[in-house]
Amino acid sequence: MIIGSGFGGSIPALRLAQNGKKVLVLEQGQAHAEKDLKQSYDPKYLVTINQVVPSDDYAVLYQSGMTLGGGSVVFAGLMNRAPSEVFQFVDSSGYKVWPDTVTRQAMDPYYAMVEQMMSVRQATWDEVPKTGGTFARMMDTMGLTCDRANYPYVNCRQCGYCEAGCIYGAKQDLMHNYIPQAQAAGAEFRTGCIAMAIMPATGGYSVQYMDPYRGGTSVQGTVVILAAGAIGSAAILLKSRQYLPQLSPQVGQNFNNNGDLILAFELPDGWPSVEYYKGRANAGVMTYAFWDEYRITIHTGTGPPGIFSGMNVHRPGELPWGLGFKQWAKEIYRSKFIGGVVIGLVTGEGYVYLSNDSPLVHFSPVTRSYTDYTNRVVSVGNAIAQANNAILLQTRTNGYEYASAHQLSTVRIGDDPLRSPADPYGQVRGYQGLFVSDSGSIPGGTGVNPALTIAANAERITDYIVNTW
Ligand SMILES: Cc1cc2nc3c(=O)[nH]c(=O)nc-3n(C[C@H](O)[C@H](O)[C@H](O)COP(=O)(O)OP(=O)(O)OC[C@H]3O[C@@H](n4cnc5c(N)ncnc54)[C@H](O)[C@@H]3O)c2cc1C
Ligand code: SF4
Repeated sequence: MIIGSGFGGSIPALRLAQNGKKVLVLEQGQAHAEKDLKQSYDPKYLVTINQVVPSDDYAVLYQSGMTLGGGSVVFAGLMNRAPSEVFQFVDSSGYKVWPDTVTRQAMDPYYAMVEQMMSVRQATWDEVPKTGGTFARMMDTMGLTCDRANYPYVNCRQCGYCEAGCIYGAKQDLMHNYIPQAQAAGAEFRTGCIAMAIMPATGGYSVQYMDPYRGGTSVQGTVVILAAGAIGSAAILLKSRQYLPQLSPQVGQNFNNNGDLILAFELPDGWPSVEYYKGRANAGVMTYAFWDEYRITIHTGTGPPGIFSGMNVHRPGELPWGLGFKQWAKEIYRSKFIGGVVIGLVTGEGYVYLSNDSPLVHFSPVTRSYTDYTNRVVSVGNAIAQANNAILLQTRTNGYEYASAHQLSTVRIGDDPLRSPADPYGQVRGYQGLFVSDSGSIPGGTGVNPALTIAANAERITDYIVNTW
């Protein structure tokens, strides 16, 4: 049995069904066919396909897909392999977070399986929106390079609504490959079903869940795979602690935001218009130019004008509201604004906990190691701005926005039983046959957007389950 139908859930569903296992997937969201999706960023629509969990100081809203196919339906599609150094990362306490057996070399065959299944390929320059081209030019001014990034897109129309779900079927999300193939192999996907708790039962585990038609009910499985996302999987285990007393106290700990930080720039006069509102949600390029020195990558996006109010984008020293701000935003949005996401290797210092049975995230980026990281990123942002006569904008009041879609590590795998709630194969310590295969199992930052690594790791974990159960 599998809880969640995103990357961590649909991949085991297919591989186990192909190997003749009886598979049931519980998914709390509904199935959305292309005709049910909308080209809209209206929050009233977005809440039908997303879940939002706040940080406990309400400074960040952590977003994730809540639909059959999970995050794959709402993600922007950037799918690059993690650089080799990611798998050797040692955190600020001196702990090497990835198991010794899981290296980039060991992951490569699994990366290749996902890329083949999801038709991932490198974008051509013709497919790179102007925002991406402009960012590449900014790097070029500094004598640095940008790579075209990899995406699972076929016949993309560059409409820009990838994060609302692709109505054209161009984005090869899990609804185009793993899920229909798993169904054809006999797996059942039960939607609208919210898993509440897991308890040991004869020959395996019983999962309690809320069914839209039958109310509270339960189902039994020999093997249970948690794939409800980094926040969801941790929350289910925390709710189950009374039934699973040997669970590691590390469950919910080590929350990692993948080092996401938003940098934005105002370009000087004389540059061709950026047309920030045009093209795919993810603007097609990624720079590794700062990787060796800072262990960060930067990629750019496109976006609707709401970005100015939603993120408080403003010039340093000026107000992010008022008439002057409105005039400035109107002037720069179309032609001179460019925003990018920095991703980098940081120690996972947050945690997920339950408040009245609902998950909350505690993430306070004021520790020494996180402040040093932020300062290093801002120094890179200033260098880019200076080289291009641009202005590094602030993306939240007196600071920089932490992007909120790459939650990781809350039930991390690892070699050290005291530091990792799951073993290197995703088996929850103390509980044979209970696995975690999603973003929660990824033990540290991925250096790039995480979906491809989450998916490849799910293939790796499933390989182990197929061969041992
Ligand atoms: C707007 C947006 C853009 C993104 N863009 C990119 C990108 O370009 N590249 C990239 O690499 N990553 C991107 N991501 C991140 C990526 O989508 C996630 O890292 C990835 O989907 C996580 O995979 P997962 O399997 O851990 O969980 P998910 O894909 O989130 O799947 C978890 C599933 O479990 C279900 N679930 C949760 N709790 C329960 C429960 N109690 N019972 C039953 N079901 C439950 C959820 O509804 C969901 O469908 C983006 C995310 C968002 C939100
Ligand atoms: S930009 Fe391409 S992939 Fe994204 S929603 Fe539009 S057609 Fe689909």
